[in-house]
Order: sequence, then structure tokens, then C-alpha cells
Amino acid sequence: MNEATTLSRKADFPGLVTSEGKPWHYLDTAATAQKPQAVIDAMSNALGRDYATVHRGVYSRSANMTLAYEAARRRVADFIGAKGENEIVFVRGATEGINLVAQSWGGLNLKAGDRIMLSQLEHHSNIVPWQMIAQQTGAEIDVCPLTEDHLIDLDALEQMLTPKHKIVALAHVSNVLGSILGVKRAAKLAHSVGAKFLLDGCQAAPRMRLNMAELDCDFYVLSAHKLYGPTGIGVLWAREHLLEEMPPYQGGGAMIDTVSFAKTTYAPPPQRFEAGTPMITEAIALHAAIDYVDAMDMESLFAHESALAITLRDELRKINSIRLFGPEKTAGIVSFEMEGVHPHDLGTILDEENVAIRAGHHCAQPLMIYLGVPATARASFGLYSDESDIDALLRGIERTKRIFG
Ligand code: PMP
Repeated sequence: MNEATTLSRKADFPGLVTSEGKPWHYLDTAATAQKPQAVIDAMSNALGRDYATVHRGVYSRSANMTLAYEAARRRVADFIGAKGENEIVFVRGATEGINLVAQSWGGLNLKAGDRIMLSQLEHHSNIVPWQMIAQQTGAEIDVCPLTEDHLIDLDALEQMLTPKHKIVALAHVSNVLGSILGVKRAAKLAHSVGAKFLLDGCQAAPRMRLNMAELDCDFYVLSAHKLYGPTGIGVLWAREHLLEEMPPYQGGGAMIDTVSFAKTTYAPPPQRFEAGTPMITEAIALHAAIDYVDAMDMESLFAHESALAITLRDELRKINSIRLFGPEKTAGIVSFEMEGVHPHDLGTILDEENVAIRAGHHCAQPLMIYLGVPATARASFGLYSDESDIDALLRGIERTKRIFG
């Protein structure tokens, strides 16, 4: 991908300039992606000239909104290679998607003595919901370790899995290290002991072409705001037969078939899992975000971000006070530590240079313990990132070195 391509992409994102009109070197896309103008426009129209509720109104604008909301569901299904839109549940984000599966599927299927398999690098949102359902059911959690180069260790997974494991829930791509899971083997291992397989696709969805059949998982979650869409909406994909057997996660309007004080019956999925007025404008903006991303070649997007990560790693390796984490080949995410400089101090100095990185535990405290650090500095790339962002980061690091002597 040449510089002209990324420059023209940067121009699509009004968030990539400072209030003084200078370039803002945004290296925190793993936390949340900047939005292209097309998404901002879609959201603004949905909140303005097109705004009305869905699924209820008899007037034409509401009927049109319902069509647009359901079109967004079909677009998501198409984008992730689902069999159909009935497999797509709109949730608030990946966090809610995992909580939904843990409470609804887990509540139905887990009992004392059962085991849940996670890994050492999971985000808190793929740990805490499982701890909560484990406490409620008496199931227990196992933690798959990492290899020396910080990938989920599938040999260890093979050794550890038993028929007591009812679910294996793993990050498709680590938000801290960029490590990419060997999905096919992980799915095979999970299924070989009869466990269901959940993938946390928050970091993979914006970077890799997804196909649910090929991934061979049972549940997949993602957040729209990492996919260049708005906050407040995400997707839970699940095999239709699983959604059909799962009880509702929340009760309220829109998720019912009939209600009386004697008995309430529920709507079929996905409506059964969408209680209340849904995220109408967010769904429409997510549709626009998918259109934007899908117009590009996902393979070259992946290659672009992955190559930037390798360039950055090579440059950081030349600075002897820096320790790198994670594998060489990542999905565009680089975590590191600078000797004698707390990541927060580094982040603050970089901010003065109009460079935004993330410093902290990245909602992965068990991983920080494993790495033996309280926090890391993390640079994460997006489709708009280019070498100018790396140069600005390196200049900021040099200045930090001078300040800290
Ligand atoms: N999993 C991973 C790997 C993530 O990166 C994130 C967001 N940092 C989440 C889950 C949670 O996503 P959200 O906060 O959008 O629900």
C-alpha cells in the first residue's frame, strides 16, 4: 500500500487532525477506531432527517427505519459470512455479547464439575463474565498458557482439554500483543472434547476477513467501535440452533411473543435477545462502517497493518532501553516497555508531540502478571496508519529518552 493511499484514507477521517489542524498520530486504534466521514454522515442522518423508532410505528418513516435496521443486520451477516441474519444478535458491544453467552448459554448448560477454558491473554471481558457464571453454577475455570513468543499455546490446550470442558473461549487476536490465534486447530481441539468454542473477535474483525463457517466456532463477538463504526453496538453471532435453545438474557419490550400476568412467551431469535428499543442509529452507522471497510481489500489491510507493526518492532529493537512483547507477526499491535520510564509518562510526553498511544494494563491484568509488568505502552495501527505515525512515535521516544537522561 503506497503513501498516497493512506494519505487519502487519512483524509476520510476528520478525527485524525488536532484542533490546530495538525496531523494527530493516532496509535490507539485497538482501543477504538477513528470514524470515516461516511459513518458520521450515516449516524447524523439517522438521528436527523430519518429518525424514528423501529418495529412499532405504522407511519412510513418508522417502516423505513425498520427496513434500515434490518438491512444492517443482513449486512453484518454477509460481512462475517454467517448463514443468515437470524444468527446476528445486536448487543451493546463484545462485552455484552460474552455476558449474554455466559449467562444464557452458560446458565442452561453449565453445572458443578464442568470446566471453562480461557487463556492467559484474555481481555477482562472474556474473563469476568465466565467467573460470574462459574460462581453461579459451580463450574471451574482453567487457563491455557502462552508460548515463549506469546501465542496461545495450542499444544498445552490439547493436553489440558477434557470432556469436562463445556466451553473454550479465546481471543481471535490479542488486544495487547496482537497475537493471532490458530483458530482452526483451536476449534478442532474444543470440538474433539465436545466443548463449544467462542471467539472474541474484537481485534480481528477490523483486520481480517471473517467467515463463520471457515472459523468453525460456535459463538463470535465483536464491537462496532473497533470496526470504524459507532460505540454502543456490537454483534453476537451464534449458530442458529444454539440461539434457539438459549433463554432470554434480558426481559422487556420487543423480545416477546405474547405477555400476560399468567404467562409470557418469547419471540424467536434474534429478537428474543434484543429487549427494549434497540440501537437504531448505531446499527445504521455500523452498516456504513462495514460498507467503508468492505470496499477495501481486507487482505491488503491486514498486510499493511502487520507490515507497520514489523517496521515499528525493528525500529524499537534498535533502542536498547526498550523491551518488546508479543510475537513478530502480529495483527498490527505492538506492546513494549521502556526501561526507567513508566508507560504513563511516555504516553504523556508523546501526547505533547500529538502522538496517542495507550499506556496501562489494557484490561488484561492477568496478562500483565504473566509478563511481569504493571503496564505496557501499546501502539496499535488502523487502516489509516502509515510510516509518518511511526516516525512521530520514534521522535517522541527519543525526546522521552533525553528527558529521562
Ligand atoms: N475483547 C477484546 C480483545 C478487546 O480488545 C475489547 C476492547 N478493548 C473487548 C473485548 C471489549 O470490547 P467492548 O469494550 O467494546 O465491549
